[in-house]
Order: sequence, then C-alpha cells, then structure tokens
Amino acid sequence: MAKTKYVYSFGNMQADGNASMKDLLGGKGANLAEMNLFGIPGPPGFTITTEVCTLYNQKGKDYAISLIKDEVESAVQKVEKIMGTKFGDSQNPCLLSVRSGSRASMPGMMDTVLNLGLNDEAVAGIARKTGNERFAWDSYRRFVQMFGDVVLGMKPTSKEDHDPFEEIIDQMKEEKGVMLDTELTTDDLKEMVQRFKQAVKKVTGKDFPVDPWEQLWGSVMAVFDSWMNERAVYYRKLNKIPEEWGTAVNVQAMVFGNMGNNSGTGVAFTRDAATGEDIFNGEYLLNAQGEDVVAGIRTPQEITLEGSRRWAKLQNITEEERASKYPSLEEAMPEIYHELNTLQQKMEDHYRDMQDLEFTIQEGKLWILQTRNGKRTGAAMVRIAMEMLEQGILSKDEALMRIDPNRLDELLHPVFDNEALANAKVMAKGLPASPGAATGQVVFHADEAEAWAAQGKKIILVRVETSPEDLKGMNVAEGILTARGGMTSHAAVVARGMGKCCVSGAGTIKVNYKARTLEMGGKMFKEGDFISLNGSKGEVYEGRIPTKDPELSGDFGKLMELADKRAKMKVRTNADTPHDAEVARDFGAQGIGLCRTEHMFFGGDKIIAMREMILADDETGRRKALEKLLPIQREDFEGIFEAMQDLPVTVRLLDPPLHEFVPHDDKGQNEMAKVMGVPVEKIKAKIEELHEFNPMLGHRGCRLGNTYPEITETQARAIIEAALNLKAKGIKAIPEIMIPLTGTLEEMRMQEKIVRDTAETVFAERNDKIDYLVGTMIEVPRAAITADDIAKSAEFFSFGTNDLTQMTFGYSRDDAGKFLEVYKEKGILKHDPFEVLDQQGVGKLVKMAVKKGRKTRKNIKLGICGEHGGEPSSVMFCHEAGLHYVSCSPYRVPIARLAAAQAVAEKKLAKKSRKAKKSKK
Ligand code: ADP
Ligand code: MG
Ligand code: MG
Repeated sequence: MAKTKYVYSFGNMQADGNASMKDLLGGKGANLAEMNLFGIPGPPGFTITTEVCTLYNQKGKDYAISLIKDEVESAVQKVEKIMGTKFGDSQNPCLLSVRSGSRASMPGMMDTVLNLGLNDEAVAGIARKTGNERFAWDSYRRFVQMFGDVVLGMKPTSKEDHDPFEEIIDQMKEEKGVMLDTELTTDDLKEMVQRFKQAVKKVTGKDFPVDPWEQLWGSVMAVFDSWMNERAVYYRKLNKIPEEWGTAVNVQAMVFGNMGNNSGTGVAFTRDAATGEDIFNGEYLLNAQGEDVVAGIRTPQEITLEGSRRWAKLQNITEEERASKYPSLEEAMPEIYHELNTLQQKMEDHYRDMQDLEFTIQEGKLWILQTRNGKRTGAAMVRIAMEMLEQGILSKDEALMRIDPNRLDELLHPVFDNEALANAKVMAKGLPASPGAATGQVVFHADEAEAWAAQGKKIILVRVETSPEDLKGMNVAEGILTARGGMTSHAAVVARGMGKCCVSGAGTIKVNYKARTLEMGGKMFKEGDFISLNGSKGEVYEGRIPTKDPELSGDFGKLMELADKRAKMKVRTNADTPHDAEVARDFGAQGIGLCRTEHMFFGGDKIIAMREMILADDETGRRKALEKLLPIQREDFEGIFEAMQDLPVTVRLLDPPLHEFVPHDDKGQNEMAKVMGVPVEKIKAKIEELHEFNPMLGHRGCRLGNTYPEITETQARAIIEAALNLKAKGIKAIPEIMIPLTGTLEEMRMQEKIVRDTAETVFAERNDKIDYLVGTMIEVPRAAITADDIAKSAEFFSFGTNDLTQMTFGYSRDDAGKFLEVYKEKGILKHDPFEVLDQQGVGKLVKMAVKKGRKTRKNIKLGICGEHGGEPSSVMFCHEAGLHYVSCSPYRVPIARLAAAQAVAEKKLAKKSRKAKKSKK
C-alpha cells in the first residue's frame, strides 16, 4: 500500500497540490500551490494536511510528529535549496512563517508565527548578511512576541488583561519619547528583545527556546491547537463550518516587508468588496510586516491613486497633504504597482472571481503571499456576479450559482430615509467599510454588546479597533464604528462578511473604554446614547434616523429576472392581509400559497361574533353568530383578492382549535361575560369544555368543519361572494379553497361537498360564477400515505411541512426547543427539521404523496406552504420533488426565487461538467 502523503511542497513554479485540493490542503495551502502553477511569484514552502490535524487531535503531539517528521525535513530542504539558505544556520539562516489555513477561510481566527528560526546567533547572521541590523532586530522582536503569544500561551485571555509584549512596547515608546514602532532605534529593539525574553521566563518559567526545530514543531502544534480556540469555535458555529474539517499548516520561507522604505506589505481586492464596483483597490504600509495593515497600528495608505483620492476626500485631507504624507503605491512605487496590477488581473482571470490577496515588497521585489475568493457584502455579491456575467466571465448558470440566497436578505433591509438624512447632523466621518443603515445605542465592549442585545436592545458597537475577540459582540450589533483601521481592517472585513453596517477609521472620534464615553463632533456620548451609522457613506449621526424600504432595481432586478427565467417552480407568498400581499407582490410573489383565515376573527367586533359562535349551544345559535361574521370575512377576502388580482390565492379554512379564541384569565373572562351579557360561570364552563390535553392533535382543522359544517359553509360563502363582487368591478380573483389537516378521503369529501354546494347556491343567487379549486393541505402523515385516495377529491395538494414535520418526527413544535439544541450539539440531528426540511424522512412522504396524487389526478396542482418554502436547500428539494410552487413569507420571496433557479442551474452545470470530463477522456 502506498504511504499516505501528509506534506505537500510548493515553490519555483512547481507544486504537489493545486486549487482543487482545499479539503486536504486548506484554502490557503491549495491556492499557494495553485499560484505556483500559473506563474504568480511567491516564496516556497509546504503544507501539512488537515488529516494530520485530525490525527493530532485524536492521538496527540508525539504521534503527529512521528508521522510527518521525515516528510517535513525533506520539505524544509527543498525550501533551503530554492532560497539558498539553511534552516538553523547561524550565518545564513532560513527563516520561516507558520500559517494556518482551513477549507473555509476564517480571517484572523487562527494563529500565525513569522520570522521563525531566529535566535541570538541567527539574528547576528541576518544582520551581517543584509547589512541591516535594525531590520534583523525588528524581525527578532516580532518573532519573540508572536511565539510568546501563540505558542507559549501568553496572549491575554480577558478584556482586562493586557498583552505583556504590547505593554513592554508601550513602556519603551514612552521611555524613549516616540509615537511609532518605526521610530525605535536598533538598540531599543535589542533591549526590547531582552525584556520580552524576561517576560517569557517570568510567565512560563522557562527560557525562550533557541532551537529552530523546537520552534518549528511548537508552532505547527500551536496552529493545530488554534483550530479549537474559543473564537475559532465560535466562528465555525456562526458560519456552519464542521469541526471535523481541521486546519492545514502552511510553512513558508519568509520575505520581508520591514527592510526599510523600499519594502512594505499590503492587502488588495480585485473589486470593491463593499459595493462590488469593478475597481482594483487595497492598502499598504511601507517598512511593515505581517498584520500591521490589518491591525490598524499605523494609518494604511491606498494602493491606487484614484482610491487614495477618494480616501482623502472622505477624511477631509487636502490633495497636497495626501500626496506628501499618504501617497498611493501607484505614486510611491510605480513599477511595483504596475506589476501588482497585472498580477491581480491575472489572478482574477484565473479564479474567475473577486480575489482578496496579500503581498509583500522586499527591497523592490514583489511577492504574493496569499489569494482567496474575497468576502463581500450581499450587494457586492450581486453586483459582481451580474457584472461578471455581462463581462462574459461567467455563464448565466454560473452567475446564478455565485449568489448565496440567504444573503439576499441584506439587500432587502431598510435604508435611511433621504429626507431624514438631509436633516441629520454628521458628527464624524470615517470610511464606508460596509454599507447599510444602522441605528442603536452605543456600547463599548463585546460582552456587554451581547448582554444588551440579549435584552432586546439594538446596539452599535463602538471600538478603537476590533479584534477576533470581538466577534460575538459584532454579531449581535446593528452596526460597528471604529476609530482606527482602514478598509481592510479586521472590523471592515468581518462586517462585510456578516453583511453588517460598518464605519471604520473614524479618526476624529475619541473612545474612552474606562469612562465609557464617545466624543465626536464636539459632543460627549455616553454608553446607551443613540447614534446612527451610514455604512455606505462612512458617516456617523447623532440620535435615531428613520429608515425606509430599499429600492429593488439595478443589479438585483437583473438577477431576479434571470432567476425567474431559469426557474421551473413559481414562488408564492404566505400572507393574511392586503398589505403583506402587496409587499410580497413587490418582491415578485406570483400568488398566495397560504392565506390563514384565523386572524380575521381577532380584533374589535370580529372576536365578539366569533366568541358568540363558540358559546352557542346549538347549530341555530352558531348560524346566528356566523351571519355576523360573514360580511366581515367577505370584506377581508375582497381586500386580499384585490391586492393579488389575476394571481391565485389559496385560502385555508379555519384551522386552530377553538380554545385559542377565548380568554384564559379571570380578567378576560369577566370582560367577555360583560360584553356577551352572560354570567361568567357560563363562560368558564364553556372554556373548561374546550380544554384539550393535546390541542395540536385535537379538535382542529377539518375536524372543526366536519363537526360544525356551518363554519365551512360560511367561509366558503364569504370567499365566493367576495370573488363575485370583485368580478362585478372587473377585478379577477382566483380562489383556491384549502381544507386543513385532512387525514382521510371521507374527511375531504365531506368538506368538498359543503364548499361546492355553497358555491352552487351562491352562483344561483347571483346568476354569475367564477372558477375556483378545492384542495387540501397534506400535513398529516396518513394523508401523504393515502394521497392517491385523497386526490380523488382534492384538486391540489399543498404540503404543510410544519405540521407534517411535527407529526412525522413526533416532535411538538412548541416544546422541541428544549432538546433540539442539544440534539444538534450532539450531532443527533444536523439541522432543526422545522428550519431545514428533513429530506430522508418528511421528504420521502412528500415525494410519495406527489407520486400517488399524480397517479389519481394527472394534473394535480402541487405546492408547499410550510416555513421550509423559503429555505434554499428545501426549495431545491421541492424542485426535485416536482412541485409547481413554493410559498413563503414576503421577505423570503426573492430568496426562494433564486433558490428555485439554482435548482435548475446546478443540474445544468453538473451535466455540462460531466460532458466536459467525458470528452477529455
Ligand atoms: P491569516 O490567515 O490570519 O490572514 P496569514 O497566514 O495570512 O494569516 O498570515 C498573516 C500575515 O503574515 C500575512 O498577511 C502576511 O502579511 C504575513 N506573512 C505570512 N507568511 C509570510 C511570509 N512567508 N513572508 C512574509 N510575510 C508573511
Ligand atoms: Mg492571510
Ligand atoms: Mg398545519
């Protein structure tokens, strides 16, 4: 048997791996390999596979090392050969970076160690070799700090703690009277290393390790460990990344951006990650290394001249000051800029998606350190896909598949009302890091943000800068405001990934964590005060600014048009009021799949009449009460039918048990007695009578209509009369009358007869008629099993997957919350089946019912109206199952439209790639 390969080398335009091997090499490792294969210059290195991470977690450090020791040693030799250096040598040392990288990108979530291989001898060797002593010691102090934080566990664990190394740096800057790291002298740096090492000894009780191999193994294991650190675990949970995946480790020869002012480091995007605009952009810093740009320690500069000018305008900086103090890379290093610009285009062309790349310039030579498909806002996602389609980069199906349906939600969020905005007072300006409108109360710490949000408060997280520790707080915030950091800062990147409004680098605001105050625009804001953020303009306002619904045209409109052309299924909405129906129509709904009639019995006179009916002793009494309800219902239906004119409206007859319509407390019962003019005892006795042990399995649905036929009769009359009234006005209503909770053919037949008899009566009375359908929900398992029978009476099926899930699993929807969380955590269930349709169980019932229903009635109309109708994977299942439409809440209509199109696009693309593979063979 061939030995498993655990280490994959890359360098010098050759690589063992490639971009398709993300599972094994992680995203970063797979792309580092791929870049070598299509001519992107990067330092050589190797990737230790994710499999080793899994084995490390199972069997421990010694086992993992024994497994890969030989492979790693020979991979290091390959790096040495390419670089002409030697790992562990004191004269000509090879320095390495150790970087994490899992299948899905988790920016900044796990740890990196740079400049590994340095010790007191090697630093002297580097200084001699480069003739740059300051650089050698700057690298050394960075290494000791990173190794201490990441490998020796000296990173602070709570918000009160300080990083011991940062404290030393601050102390030394103060002693030397300087502001920036770059102003410290070589001797200062030497002393800093000494102090760092003392801190290591003090905290860990051991000397700083001088053996490069010990450093390397320690760092590799620390990267594996970082997969399980708290913030990585949280990030995975947030983004549904499975724990089993593990992380790969990338070991790579160092290149140095901190060798002086002809060196630097930066981050760039091939398109704008906030808006999607097709414009190369990014930030860089001279004489800097690693995360300096992202960390917001110094103000990063823009890469392009255009970007730099846009930035200066937002910051109120004059062109003169900009050009002299913050020149773009395009101005500062035109040749490097030109090369970078060519490379970014090459990378985007190769991956056919917006790239987020990292680069370092070492003494005038450009190296690319990483590329990945860039995280972006929902709006950018749509614009990039649509423009790449127009530019001929993507096919229609590919463009459709580029959209994550769930993220369309972001585009449907409210925006600031323009009039209100014109009157708003701008208190500060920062960068438009992530678009959107946010209003909330100022909070300064992530854990407090969580606590406030848990109380239902809307909050804006205000920080000097954010770090991965703030993730939870950012996740619950309406928006994020930072004083420091650019468009590629942690806050900006994470906020865009979350689709959350963010203004970053608002340099004029003063944040005081201790006093919990925010000073801006000459005013002091306390914790809890309201502010508003405009993430599209980078503006911060005082107080609460009203919002309105967004415009759904432009690229979004184009996407939806494309989706509707591709989709086979239609998308309807669940709506009970004319207003909801109108909203859904604006979102592209093609009918109502579920109009619940129960709300029509609440409020004002309606509930009184309803209660009269419930209280009645016999049919005559009930009919008297129903007569009062009839005109009210008819009017409600007219409203909804009119809002949905020319489109079908599925009306469900009364479904909930009657006890839901009566008060359960003394106060309410007394009031009811007074209004009805009956003794409260009578009310109490009736409510007692209505009590059920399992109301959800009790007297509800068609069981009501079959025991009290006059209820069905009245509702049918209201529907048909409403439709006829509209017809008289020239408005076309298409009612589909739906019987709930059918379990047997007889139940259905009896209801159908009442509806049809009533319709005929009304038609005769009016001497006019309309077309209508009578069908049923399939939500009781027995109905699915006997669907061939039920289809003898039902003209359509609508799968009520909420009840169907409840009854198939035997989980009470109202009580399942208690154990479903535990079930998900323990892996018993992958998803909450009330959210994501259970295809193996409930789905089989759906498919069976479709087949049986069609056998009896070839043209039976089929749809779904459970919550699942707006959940993308469930929508794709519905397509597969052959349904004609899905129905969901108004705000999910665009999501379902896209998912319905993706169901088709995915198949077409798969077929195409199978064909392409075949013809290759
Ligand atoms: P993350 O996944 O958090 O982005 P990286 O592995 O990309 O972490 O490392 C962080 C930064 O360290 C990079 O952006 C880059 O600037 C720097 N870095 C990593 N490897 C090297 C290297 N071989 N030479 C120079 N800089 C490096
Ligand atoms: Mg990176
Ligand atoms: Mg139901």
